[in-house]
Amino acid sequence: MTIKNKVVVITGASSGIGEATAKLLADKGAKIVLGARREERLKELADEIKSNGGQVVYHVTDVVKPEDSKQLVHLAKDTFGSVDAIFLNAGIMPNSSLSELKTDEWNSMVDVNIKGVLNGIAAVLPTFTSQKSGHIITTSSVAGLKAYPGGAVYGATKWAVRDLMEVLRIESAQEGTNIRTATIYPAAINTELLETITDTNMAEGMTAMYEQYGITPDRVANVVAFALDQPEDTNINEFTIGPTSQPW
Ligand code: NDP
Repeated sequence: MTIKNKVVVITGASSGIGEATAKLLADKGAKIVLGARREERLKELADEIKSNGGQVVYHVTDVVKPEDSKQLVHLAKDTFGSVDAIFLNAGIMPNSSLSELKTDEWNSMVDVNIKGVLNGIAAVLPTFTSQKSGHIITTSSVAGLKAYPGGAVYGATKWAVRDLMEVLRIESAQEGTNIRTATIYPAAINTELLETITDTNMAEGMTAMYEQYGITPDRVANVVAFALDQPEDTNINEFTIGPTSQPW
């Protein structure tokens, strides 16, 4: 099955990369299930997709809560009869130097960026295992590949996603469950992500960098679509994507 008619659950769908991906996949005929915390944004996006002829539902979802992720997957099955893919994309990036000791933000990043992904995997894995098919796609980051000052905890969470996705891929192949995985590593993409930074100097520095280099989130959506569109026997494991002009 190509993208058309696939049932795709997307977390972090209310803005940025998730929103762009929802629009693109809906245009290509996928049935979309949107999850995020901001209901108004989800409703607006769902209305836009429907007005363009797409099929979409949404559920207010905090990925930190395992039950919310389960309900999101249930909604997909109840509405469309199945779930074929999940894009675990919700994330936050309140970068700061470790010496600032913003420990609440460290914990929030671990909760959203790691536990949120694990909750999504746990919500969908029983279905994918029993149907012996399914596609799990995550948004890691170039911060999951390269260390940089201010990004210690954010990078650690994205590094963790890389590891658990690769192990998921290996275990699925060993267990013969035919589950595909794709981990995407974006560099500077212009979204609302920098709004999660509370350290003023860090926010200014990163904003300047994004203003210089950033590209639009539909570029990442194209990668998600590419991964989804491969034949069932083909797995796009990892994909790094960023601005041509960005040096790192
Ligand atoms: P945005 O801030 O635009 O989007 C983040 C999304 O995550 C929003 O939809 C937000 O929705 C959602 N979200 C945050 N916390 C939660 C939560 N607890 N439960 C459910 N949803 C949540 O940024 P991006 O589109 O850039 O971010 C998407 C992913 O891409 C993130 O994982 C980010 O780390 C990653 N990334 C982004 C890069 C970039 O340069 N932009 C580079 C590399 C990786 P809501 O607030 O409504 O819940």
